[in-house]
Amino acid sequence: GGAGGGGADGRGTARVALFPLPFQGHISPMLQLAGALRARGLAVTVLHTAFNAPDPARHPGLAFVAVPDAIPEAAAAANGIAKILALNAAMEASGRVRAALASLMAAEGQPRLACLVLDSTLPAAQKAAAGLGLPTLVLHTGSAACFRLFRSYDMLHHRGYLPSTESNLDMPIEELPPLKVSDLFDPSKLPSKEIGQKILDLATETTTSSSGAILNTSEALEPHELKLIRDELAPKGIPPFAVGPLHKLAAGDGAGETTSLLEQDRGCVEWLDAQAPGSVLYVSFGSVARVTRDEFLEVAWGLASSGRPFLWVVRRGLVLGVDERPPELPEGFGAAAAGRGRVVEWAPQQEVLAHPAVGGFWTHSGWNSTLESVYEGVPMLSRPQFGDQLATGRYVADSWKVGVLLEGAVERGAVETAIRKLMEDEEGEGGAMRGRAGALKEKVRMSVERGGSSQQAVDKLVDHMLSL
Ligand code: UDP
Repeated sequence: GGAGGGGADGRGTARVALFPLPFQGHISPMLQLAGALRARGLAVTVLHTAFNAPDPARHPGLAFVAVPDAIPEAAAAANGIAKILALNAAMEASGRVRAALASLMAAEGQPRLACLVLDSTLPAAQKAAAGLGLPTLVLHTGSAACFRLFRSYDMLHHRGYLPSTESNLDMPIEELPPLKVSDLFDPSKLPSKEIGQKILDLATETTTSSSGAILNTSEALEPHELKLIRDELAPKGIPPFAVGPLHKLAAGDGAGETTSLLEQDRGCVEWLDAQAPGSVLYVSFGSVARVTRDEFLEVAWGLASSGRPFLWVVRRGLVLGVDERPPELPEGFGAAAAGRGRVVEWAPQQEVLAHPAVGGFWTHSGWNSTLESVYEGVPMLSRPQFGDQLATGRYVADSWKVGVLLEGAVERGAVETAIRKLMEDEEGEGGAMRGRAGALKEKVRMSVERGGSSQQAVDKLVDHMLSL
């Protein structure tokens, strides 16, 4: 039986195949979904690329199939968007996904293959399934707000919000509150506008061609956005399922399996044990975002002068132009931070956010990081960089009001001020934010508890999969 109790039990009756986009922020929620489906009795096979391959030994309950030859070219592509497009092109050309699905469908003595769940950016996988008559569902690894935003680009162009100009950046988007023009991912600002538009179209197209949309969010967090999505998709026969936060959905045998691609440095947990409750600022910009050397220095000096203890994730590749080794901290930084700081290459983030010593999270507003922070009731200092992060940062500050948005250039004085505001005691704005973060945490936790909205949604999702 599943974590939600009761509900569908597909044990022995069906298998589902899952295909994540091979990036950390996409692999994690897909593997978490896999755990939840397995806990409901479904057999699960994860298709994956050689690039950023998950470690099967860490997920003993799941089957893995590598579709290797599609990858080298895609992995070499310059930026994230180009990689996604190259991956799709290579997948289509090689036919390996189709072959892998066909052999799962033909396997004798196995539960039947009910459907493929693909990342919303992988239309090539969807086409492969369609060619075999296999139904598909799409996993959206961003927020419901972002889902709506990506489907609104025709409107945004039509109403003149886009392309953005110097003078309209502060303009509120009446149709999508609380977003402003500056929160939009503007394809015209990319080196190739066509490629930017393409990435937006992918998620919209795969959803339209699917038998259902799975969203890593909760009724407790985005009720209004989810209602609008339901109103839009239901008439098209595409049910949406809000099953988040996925990292806390699967209880039982799938729980606690790490989905991190990098080794997590657990030494910092002992360091946290020695810090006062709520005193530490945790700082991480996720797995993809990069900063210039100048920005890196402003972050460092801002942290040092904030006077607060901090745990900072400085991963390999964080600083542009420095790829082979971990970036070097500025001279004198250790002395300036006066033993208040700890720097690691990669942290056990969920454990860190759950630690009582952590009182704030400086984040790039990646959706997984945001959900993890919300779930632990940790207020955020949001510094979004690109894509859906911008909208998420706005929601954190203006919709849920559980964080501060750091806008404009990263500059040590502004950093220091923002950190002080976030971490200040109960009296000030920081205290109010902490209170709201605590209330939101309780609501979101209820949605993944027994009988909660996300548990019910997974029950419905499994029923739906078995009916396809
Ligand atoms: N993460 C981690 N250790 C770190 C930093 C991040 O395990 O030191 C994890 C984090 O818990 C989250 C994921 O990496 O699940 C980052 O996903 P997110 O969507 O926040 O950002 P992305 O990396 O996709 O930009």
